[in-house]
Parts: sequence; structure tokens; C-alpha cells
Amino acid sequence: MTHYDVVINGAGMAGAMLALGLSGLRRPDGSRLNIAVIEAMSPEHDRHPGFDARSIALAWHSQTLLQQLGIWPALAPLANPITHIQVSDQGHFGRVEMSATEYGVPALGQVIELHPVGRELHRRLAECESITLYCPDRIAGFEQQLQSVTIALESGVSFSASLLVAADGNRSLIGEWLGVPRRQLDYGQSAIIANIATAEPHAGRAFERFTPQGPLALLPMNEGRSSLVWCVAPERAEQLMAMNDEAFLAALQREFGYRLGKLVRTGKRHCYPLILDEAPRPWHHRVVLLGNAAHLLHPIAGQGFNLGLRDVATLVEQLGRGLDQGQDIGSHAVLSAYGKERLPDQAGMVNLTTALALLFSNDNPVLAAGRNLGLSVMAGCAPLKSQLAWRAMGKR
Ligand SMILES: Cc1cc2nc3c(=O)[nH]c(=O)nc-3n(C[C@H](O)[C@H](O)[C@H](O)COP(=O)(O)OP(=O)(O)OC[C@H]3O[C@@H](n4cnc5c(N)ncnc54)[C@H](O)[C@@H]3O)c2cc1C
Repeated sequence: MTHYDVVINGAGMAGAMLALGLSGLRRPDGSRLNIAVIEAMSPEHDRHPGFDARSIALAWHSQTLLQQLGIWPALAPLANPITHIQVSDQGHFGRVEMSATEYGVPALGQVIELHPVGRELHRRLAECESITLYCPDRIAGFEQQLQSVTIALESGVSFSASLLVAADGNRSLIGEWLGVPRRQLDYGQSAIIANIATAEPHAGRAFERFTPQGPLALLPMNEGRSSLVWCVAPERAEQLMAMNDEAFLAALQREFGYRLGKLVRTGKRHCYPLILDEAPRPWHHRVVLLGNAAHLLHPIAGQGFNLGLRDVATLVEQLGRGLDQGQDIGSHAVLSAYGKERLPDQAGMVNLTTALALLFSNDNPVLAAGRNLGLSVMAGCAPLKSQLAWRAMGKR
């Protein structure tokens, strides 16, 4: 039976990047790790759960991590820089503006479209000699032994591994089979995404606007378009999804205003129900849960994959350290070192995004006055604003 050092189930953003990051590691004798990746769907599929019509914002620090993992050169041609961020609260005067030049960086972050990124990542996975890609295929079962995990695929292939990584999204089958306890919270919101063409060029500007129903973000994309993420109550989302393009753009213009001039066109709309879904302990015997399999966050402040990428980078670093020290990379010592390093950031980000989602999606006059005051104080206080800016850039 073939033995792999690491088997990754799921090649969305987290799984694909982990495989590419691990392919750069070497054992002390100079040999590379033997990696297998199992993915249920081709990235060309128009209903791919990981590489759909979404665009996401990568923080400045994530770009640095992607450089270190050797992945950024593949993504750079597909990325659009964010050079300015405006945070505002609808109906109130509080507003914070941040620009890349203020902080001496070329960009505060980068926006990528997941569909073309998925195609590029899969091309790299298929080309990499130390990675075997099983796609389309699915895991049919696995068994944890003391020294390895045995994995069977629906195609009939089976193999063993020192470590199995579940990067199979928030409905992780591996997590379910293991009976991993999860903490879930329904935010009572849905996110509508669409690409919007505007009369005024975005010039690298990103906008995050808080409304009583939920946050609304427009991120700069290529061809002068902006990527919309609009979080609203589920009933309102149903109405907005049912509208024709003209009525939808008029409703959006009322909420967003004329910061980018008239909103002239919208692409196809997609809707996501928003829940928090986390596995408070994302590592088990010879198994690690990664990315959305470990934590699904509210998209407020665009932190989901930025957090997942920090998990990826730490796992690559810990496995590299284990290899250097001649350790078994699926051992309890290596995995618990990974888990202990990641838990504070994961728990902190779950708490922060949940608190922001609840605080900034509320028309309670006391909360509205408090956050409006907060934004005004922050705008006038350089150290506070600087803290917000560096956090937005992903600095811990
Ligand atoms: C509206 C919205 C806006 C967002 N904006 C941002 C943002 O601005 N910044 C940010 O950092 N994050 C953002 N996110 C979060 C980000 O999109 C996710 O964190 C990220 O895409 C998750 O990637 P993943 O690989 O962990 O999981 P997934 O994308 O769910 O990938 C899981 C993969 O596993 C495969 N799979 C599942 N089951 C199996 C199986 N049994 N066998 C084999 N394969 C399987 C799937 O086909 C898929 O390819 C946003 C999310 C939403 C919904």
C-alpha cells in the first residue's frame, strides 16, 4: 500500500495552499514529502463550493505569508491592490479613513477572485511532482492506527498516511466521522455577493459600511468593478435576490450612497446564509482540521481565509520543524505544538468577528451612539487608528 507523509482531504483555498506550501519542505536528507490531495470537484465546475464567484480580501500580512510559502507569484497577476479603506456607519457622522501611504506599505491588502485562483492553484497542484492529486474523488472512510491512518477512496484506491488533514470545508465529513464537537451560532443574516460596475473609478478604494441590518463592503476589482458583500436579514436577502437588476442597484445605492458615483451594472447575485461554526479543538490523533473545517466566520472585516492562511503557514512551519528534528510529523507532540500555537488566534478571531457582527448590525440607539463615537475617536486618534489599520492588514 502506498504511504504518504500527508494526505489532505479537500483542495479549496486552505487545502490547496497547504499542499503547495508543504511541497517546499525538505527532510534532512534533502528528499521531499510525499503528499496526496483528495478533491471532490474540478475547479472548472461552475458550482464549486470553494472556488465560486466570490472575491475575497487578503490582508497585507497574508500576502507576506503567501510570499514565504512560494505561492504569491502565482496569485499576483490575479490580484487587485487595496490602497485606501473607508469605514463608515450609515446615518451617522463617524468615519475612519486609512491609506497605504500613511503606513508606508504599497497596499493595505489585495482582492482576489476565487474562481480563477482555483484554476491556477489546481494547475500548480497537478504540475507538482511531490503531490498526487485525486480529483474528482472522495474519501470513503479512514481508520486511525497508532503509527498511521489508512484511507479508502470512493474510486477504490487506498493508502496510508502519517497525517490526515481535513480541509473539506465547514461540513467536514472527517470532522463528522470523528465526532468532533462544534460550536455553532446563527447570525440571522445572509450575505449577498455580486460584482458591481460604478460610474466613478474605485482607484483602489475599499469601503466597509455598517447599516442597521448588517455590514456592506465594496472591494476594488479588475476592469473597474467592485466586489459587493452585503449582509442583511434573511427575509430582506430573499427580496433583494428576487429583484431585477435595476431595482437591486437602486436599493444598493440607497444604502451605499454615491461614494463611487452611480452604480451602473450588477453581475449575477449569490446568497450565503451566515453562521459561526467552529471546532474548538481542531487537532486529533493523526488528524488536523484546517480552514473552514476548523472555523467558519462571519465575513465582517474579511477575516475567514486570512485566519485559515495563518493556520496553513503555522502547520507548514511546525511540520518543517518536526522533519528537521527527525520527528514523526503526525505525532501528538507535533500536532499539539501546532494546535497550541494556533488556538489563541483562532479563538480571538471568532470572538472579534462575532462581537463586531452583533455590535455593528444593530439599530439600538445606545449601541449606535457608542460605535459612532468609537469611529469618531478613532479617526482623530492616530495610535488607535494605527492599531485598527495594522489589524486590518493582518498584523497580530
Ligand atoms: C460572502 C463571503 C465573503 C468572504 N470574504 C472574505 C474575505 O474578504 N477575506 C477572507 O479572508 N475570507 C473571506 N471569506 C471566507 C473565505 O472565503 C473562506 O474562509 C475560504 O474560502 C475557505 O476555504 P477552505 O478551503 O477552508 O474551505 P472550502 O472553500 O469550503 O473548501 C473545501 C473543499 O473541500 C472539498 N470537499 C468537501 N468535502 C469533500 C469530500 N468529502 N471529499 C473531497 N473533497 C471535499 C470541496 O469541494 C472544497 O473544494 C468570505 C466568505 C464568504 C461566504
